[in-house]
Amino acid sequence: MIQPISIKVLQKEQELFVQWNDSTADSIALGNVRRFCPCAFCTEARINEKEHFIPIYGREQTTIISIQTIGSYALKISWADGHNDGIYEYAVIKAIAAMQFEGAK
Ligand SMILES: [Zn+2]
Repeated sequence: MIQPISIKVLQKEQELFVQWNDSTADSIALGNVRRFCPCAFCTEARINEKEHFIPIYGREQTTIISIQTIGSYALKISWADGHNDGIYEYAVIKAIAAMQFEGAK
């Protein structure tokens, strides 16, 4: 079962760095972590807006204030703008990391 060994928020670089127990590591732009927030509210916004979903992120929306592990399967990320409903399963974090976006940062 995939588990993070180490999780680092590189706020200045705007990246989430996760080292996994399968010897892989992912560096994910915080904007993408926020963009793919798996909570019901953000998921619905993405579905409704489809490809026109171009969120504008203020600094507080891509600033992580805390990360909690949830059981052995997910991370709960709290953002500086107060949003903290997203429970990111490890597979979801892997999926976000695997995506490529133009101007992802
Ligand atoms: Zn959300």
